[in-house]
Amino acid sequence: MAVIGAGPAGFYTAYRVLSKLANAKVDMYESLPVPYGLVRFGVAPDHPEVKNCQDKFNQVAQDPRFTYIGNTPIGTSWPHPPHRSLPLAVLGPHYDALLLSYGASKDRKLAIPGEDTLAGVHSARAFVGWYNGLPEYRHLKLDLHLAEEATVIGQGNVALDVARMLLSRPGDLGTTDITEYAIEELRRSRVRRVRVVGRRGLLQAAFTVKELRELLSLQGVGFHPVHAPLLPEDPGSFPRAQKRIMQVLQKGPKTKLTDAEKLWELCFLRSPKAFIPSASGSARIGAIEFEKNRLEEPMFSPNSSAIGTGETEMLPTNLAFRSIGYLSERIPGFEDLGIPFNEKRGLVPNEDGRVVKPLDPKAGDPVIPVPGIYASGWVKRGPTGVIASTMYDAFDTGDRIVSDWTGGEVEFMRFGGEEKKFGWEAVRHEVSSRGMKSISWAQWMKIDEAEKERGKRFGKEREKFTSEEEMLAVLE
Ligand code: FAD
Ligand code: NAP
Repeated sequence: MAVIGAGPAGFYTAYRVLSKLANAKVDMYESLPVPYGLVRFGVAPDHPEVKNCQDKFNQVAQDPRFTYIGNTPIGTSWPHPPHRSLPLAVLGPHYDALLLSYGASKDRKLAIPGEDTLAGVHSARAFVGWYNGLPEYRHLKLDLHLAEEATVIGQGNVALDVARMLLSRPGDLGTTDITEYAIEELRRSRVRRVRVVGRRGLLQAAFTVKELRELLSLQGVGFHPVHAPLLPEDPGSFPRAQKRIMQVLQKGPKTKLTDAEKLWELCFLRSPKAFIPSASGSARIGAIEFEKNRLEEPMFSPNSSAIGTGETEMLPTNLAFRSIGYLSERIPGFEDLGIPFNEKRGLVPNEDGRVVKPLDPKAGDPVIPVPGIYASGWVKRGPTGVIASTMYDAFDTGDRIVSDWTGGEVEFMRFGGEEKKFGWEAVRHEVSSRGMKSISWAQWMKIDEAEKERGKRFGKEREKFTSEEEMLAVLE
């Protein structure tokens, strides 16, 4: 089986298949030289315990039936030039099955004026990638010294990560694996106030209680209380998650407003309509225009929708982050292998991980399996879910692959006929003939060691390399 993407979904599915099929072989292709996906480039540096899942991934990589092939993007043309990526069709003849676990490499957009033109308007994905050393964003120009008020649009856990990183004392992040350039920029930051704005109400917010509690516990950071009419009088009947959020809010922040160096607040019932340039006429953001919303009745239901009132409001801000969800895209070459893609939902249509397409392309149902193609993780179910849910969901896909293989009733890939497939042994020369340099697990271990060595200088676990060139230079 070829696995595309070395994030949690790829590793957990590989683990399940290898532990249930004695003669399985798994080759894992990864765009970047380094593995672990969002565990390395998404999870916040001050959540080191979350990264313990890497131990399991390292264990999978020790299996002699497993091969890691880093620095080998499959099918993508951007940000890799075509000669630096391996067409999907090249893999087809050499495998029985292909697992799509390539996550979400883009983010959703608001499609409002100023989003792509004004300085100071960023995506949360870019900011997160920047502080975590994702090569794509290492040069992001944040100019945090030019901003005092920041606004985060969206109220998921990524939005709270962004707010926490802006509000934390840089010294408290110093021993984490945050990049040194990010620490330096955060030290220069003049951001004193962060608003986290949602289009619906508190009961509908997507963040979880643990992340809310972390923000309320930050040293020196005050919290502007939630507007009273948004709080129900009797939260007793609410689902457990919402009840706990209420309790934590009622308890309030660790730092009193009067003692606070910085401040944050949750704003509700606001949909962004435009990013507005600053009054000084510069090309930098100065405010966001919002439309006020009301909630459809019953307003204290987690599913209640927002309804625009037509009334607008201007909130001043000199820094804005769009945090409204990540987005998966189709890999070029899906058509060659008959793989469908749901553009609207940003996922590969599947039934329990088995990729399916309509029998009749003009009608939705019934669907038939695409032989040998499976999906796992964010590209399987959309860009939501924590590592634990990604794991359980990957196990489901793994179980599906195993039962299809042992049941013998479902077709696998047959591009090369019925003969034995040679996987990486056969693909290897396709990679080298394109001048691409793949990275083995042993080579990743050398990069890992070098990062840990660099980290010692700063008293931290590691100092990440933030460009492919730096990573590859370790191996010369
Ligand atoms: P990913 O982790 O994105 O892995 C996909 C991999 O595929 C990547 O390595 C990518 O480089 C690779 N790839 C992409 N395209 C190609 C290609 N064409 N060819 C080859 N390889 C390719 N969960 C928690 O439990 N705790 C947290 O604290 C937490 N924090 C988070 C913070 C952020 C900012 C985000 C966005 C998510 C966070 N999550 C957290 C959720 C968790 O990261 C996801 O559930 C999980 O990473 C999804 O796994 P995945 O394998 O589907 O995708
Ligand atoms: P998310 O949880 O889906 O939250 C997206 C937010 O964006 C929601 O508040 C949503 O509001 C809002 N939104 C969407 N479209 C919008 C629009 N057009 N205008 C205004 N607001 C809009 O996504 P996420 O924050 O990117 O997180 C992704 C997953 O990673 C989640 O499962 C999350 O739990 C996980 N994660 C976990 C951690 C952690 O465990 N510490 C940290 C980070 C991420 P509506 O609800 O109204 O649509």
